[in-house]
Amino acid sequence: MALCHALEISLDNAGMPMIDQEPEIKVALLQKHKEAHIALNGRFSLPDGRVLEGRFSVRAYSGQVLLADSSGKEIIRQKEILLLPEGRMSFTVSDVKIGIDFHWQRNQEQSFRGNLFLSACSDSSFNLINGIFLEDYLESVISSEMSAEAPLEFLKAQAVVARSWLVAMLAKKKSAGVSPGLKTEDEIIVWQDVNDHEGFDVCADDHCQRYQGITRIISENVHEAIKETRGEFLVHNGEICDARYYKSCGGQTEIFATAWEEASPAYLASVSDDARQHSPVQSEIQAQEWLKSRPQAYCNTTDKELLKHILPAFDQETPDFYRWQVIYTRKELEEILKKKSGIDFGTLKNLEPLERGPSGRISRLKIAGSKKTMIVGKELEIRRWLSESHLLSSAFVVLAERTGTGEINRFILSGGGWGHGVGLCQIGAAVMAAKGFKAEEILAHYFTGAQIQKLY
Ligand SMILES: [Zn+2]
Ligand SMILES: [Zn+2]
Repeated sequence: MALCHALEISLDNAGMPMIDQEPEIKVALLQKHKEAHIALNGRFSLPDGRVLEGRFSVRAYSGQVLLADSSGKEIIRQKEILLLPEGRMSFTVSDVKIGIDFHWQRNQEQSFRGNLFLSACSDSSFNLINGIFLEDYLESVISSEMSAEAPLEFLKAQAVVARSWLVAMLAKKKSAGVSPGLKTEDEIIVWQDVNDHEGFDVCADDHCQRYQGITRIISENVHEAIKETRGEFLVHNGEICDARYYKSCGGQTEIFATAWEEASPAYLASVSDDARQHSPVQSEIQAQEWLKSRPQAYCNTTDKELLKHILPAFDQETPDFYRWQVIYTRKELEEILKKKSGIDFGTLKNLEPLERGPSGRISRLKIAGSKKTMIVGKELEIRRWLSESHLLSSAFVVLAERTGTGEINRFILSGGGWGHGVGLCQIGAAVMAAKGFKAEEILAHYFTGAQIQKLY
């Protein structure tokens, strides 16, 4: 098994990513760590033929990585160390952080199959990387992202989407050239994409896709979903779709440019998450009406039993995702903004949405204060600035509640949806599956005009 060969995707003349065999990918489990503890739960071999088993420590050592046994005795010290398992042996890593910077952040001990690769990335830190075949990776990602008891047709749709997104993203990373956004005195428009990793393909956290190895038991359903969709991709005009997904659209899906660069792939058109058409948000009045009502939609569900079968336990801690409210005193919001943006706005005067997408998500928000007025975007940056962790989405309307003297007392944000809203609505898709829709129908609903094609 070759390790750590970056995923080779052939880009033809038109720059269309296509593949014809199962790729192997590199997932960073720990990034820029100084020290880590691992357990090899079976026989792993070094390239020099030595076989290792048991507990080890890893630490950065003057531009190299030092692997020592449990008594502290040095085993090997190199810039890169590769450990190959015998058969399906696993290894365990302590203190893996998940949900970094989100409200569900926590540490977990996690186990993984595949190769273990340690790579020095500076004088004083290293990356701990897992080399694994795509289908094995997906089996784990889907188990990590979703409850193992989720309906099979939903899991099949999720498998095709995650597979397509990953390969499209890695091809995009190779072709690079994405605009860095806009930063001036009065305006910050930035977005995070996944093309900023060096030395590996994806990280194991929400930034890319949640990957928790074999820590979570892979259910029969997930195994079946991967097996039945092996090698299947969403394809549009001979190109693998950049198929995004998130938790809940809030009733209407969002267009790509609200969250990322000014592109508008046809298969990511905004659609109503319902059998009936809603009218997309086109004005502030419509945003008020939309976000202060609870229109019927696939993801408008409070069915606890169903949600329990869709979301992993720690996501069930967020029950009000379809319509939500966040209330800050003016002072609280001033503090949060200062901390999260690094800008002192002084006394807050107004929050004014300047641009919204069809789901109501704001892509440009004007924040006016006594000391500074600034426009911020896109959706993720807005969510980051306006919350200690992240707002559930940037689809919200603002009510500034005033005292008798006209000064703002509180800000009430009434919002909808969870995540960026572009592509597959996971909760909506799971509800569709529970209603009897097939994976192909679910994918056709969220990805207008895309075809499913088996590439290996
Ligand atoms: Zn990442
Ligand atoms: Zn939805």
